[in-house]
Amino acid sequence: MPDENRVYIFDTTLRDGEQSPGATMTREEKVRMARQLETLGVDVIEAGFPAASVGDFEAVAAIAEAVEKPVVAALCRALPADIDRGYEAIKNAKRKRIHTFLATSALHMEHKLGKTPAQVLEMAEAAVRHAVSKGVEVQFSAEDASRSDREFLVEVCNRVIAAGATIVNIPDTVGYAQPAEFADLIRHLLATVAGAGNVTFAVHCHNDLGLGVANTLAALHAGARQAEVTLSGIGERAGNASLEQVVMGLVTRPNYYNLTTGIVTEELFPSCRRLSGIIGQPIPPYAPIIGRNAFAHESGIHQHGVLKDRRTYEIMTAEHIGRKGAVVVLGKHSGRHALDAKVKELNYKLTDDELKIVFDAVKELADRKQNILDEDIEALILEKVLRRPDHYALQFISVHCGNVELAPMAVVKMIVDGKEVRQYASGSGPVDASFNAVCEAVGRKPELEEFHINAITGGTDAQGEVTVRVREGDATSVGRGVHDDVIMASTLAFINALNRLAKKEGDRICPQL
Ligand SMILES: [Zn+2]
Repeated sequence: MPDENRVYIFDTTLRDGEQSPGATMTREEKVRMARQLETLGVDVIEAGFPAASVGDFEAVAAIAEAVEKPVVAALCRALPADIDRGYEAIKNAKRKRIHTFLATSALHMEHKLGKTPAQVLEMAEAAVRHAVSKGVEVQFSAEDASRSDREFLVEVCNRVIAAGATIVNIPDTVGYAQPAEFADLIRHLLATVAGAGNVTFAVHCHNDLGLGVANTLAALHAGARQAEVTLSGIGERAGNASLEQVVMGLVTRPNYYNLTTGIVTEELFPSCRRLSGIIGQPIPPYAPIIGRNAFAHESGIHQHGVLKDRRTYEIMTAEHIGRKGAVVVLGKHSGRHALDAKVKELNYKLTDDELKIVFDAVKELADRKQNILDEDIEALILEKVLRRPDHYALQFISVHCGNVELAPMAVVKMIVDGKEVRQYASGSGPVDASFNAVCEAVGRKPELEEFHINAITGGTDAQGEVTVRVREGDATSVGRGVHDDVIMASTLAFINALNRLAKKEGDRICPQL
């Protein structure tokens, strides 16, 4: 007997998700994602729509061969040709399912299909019978179910179950439903559909009103046992219900839902990050569960609570979804507790007065800078408390570049530990040439790990802010430079980073006791 509290996760990232503008994936990318979905523990992978294109057909066939445990589903319209093509694509899968669908709302039947309800009933039943004849598991979806007539929906369900469908999906195709209303619909179907006890009711909720996850959870609470979701909630229009949000909703509230899934939650963040890398769409920082801010605490009161006991402001742990622990973000709202904890983490010991000096400097910097990094805190300690003077200062720089034969070239005059130094160097571009000339002058060549430019002000004479991160062995440092000449801003940022490296070196030479 199937566990009645077990929810099956039907992932449609590779089908509905891929319909999200800009999210198209190659066959290889889909196979890589499918393997990650298998590691994540999804029950069903909707691999694609084989009749839609040769590319889709081949991708579904490749996925069918690539995974072992999940069921591989092919989406098909309620047409024999689609179903034949669908079966061809999944025939080599270990576990296979044909997923056929037909619209059941008056709006779709009249305006999209041009069919009467009676004709739709016939077509749905015939499609399911045809799919069942392939000897595979068959799922039927009543497209636009949430806007369909309830009693007609019951009739459709009766017919497709009698025809052999073992999964019946009730989609909120346009994200129109409201949680309580949708839960009530599911309860009504479970109570009135013939054979409801022998099949799995599924839901597929879109997010047009931002209710995709809420509707899915409400339907599961009402008795549906398959949730159709996508990683990061990508999908048609405003997207689908997000897999990680639905799963963590169940995991975080067992006392309310008492429902389990087969998902390995520690793979949630790695899976979403992989998808983000493949489709080239960064994860929004404010995204629940997977966004950079989801476990970042900035306000002083929250930080105080989290430093005492993370449960004060966290209902799940970052580690539980496969990412680094809570982040105490230092910024203009943060408190002294957080700074004190950070200073200790960076292995500095400061007196209360010294901590106050750094705290005020952090506040001042936070008014000018969005994210305060560990390197910034360290630099403030070195400058404001340990009063380490700068080792390097730029006197002048002249850069030559353009699309002529001559390689870009830079000449710098600098003060290096009190001595005047002139150096020149070439490079692949003006910035590279400037950095090389500075390296020549100061006699060190750290690795450039990150280089970011953003315009502080608008227009062609915009003030440019450059941030660089450099590495020398284990030591890293971040430097910033602001100037309306971007080469200048880059060079200042680089020298700032070098100064911070040099000051840290001071630390290594004479440790802070
Ligand atoms: Zn959909």
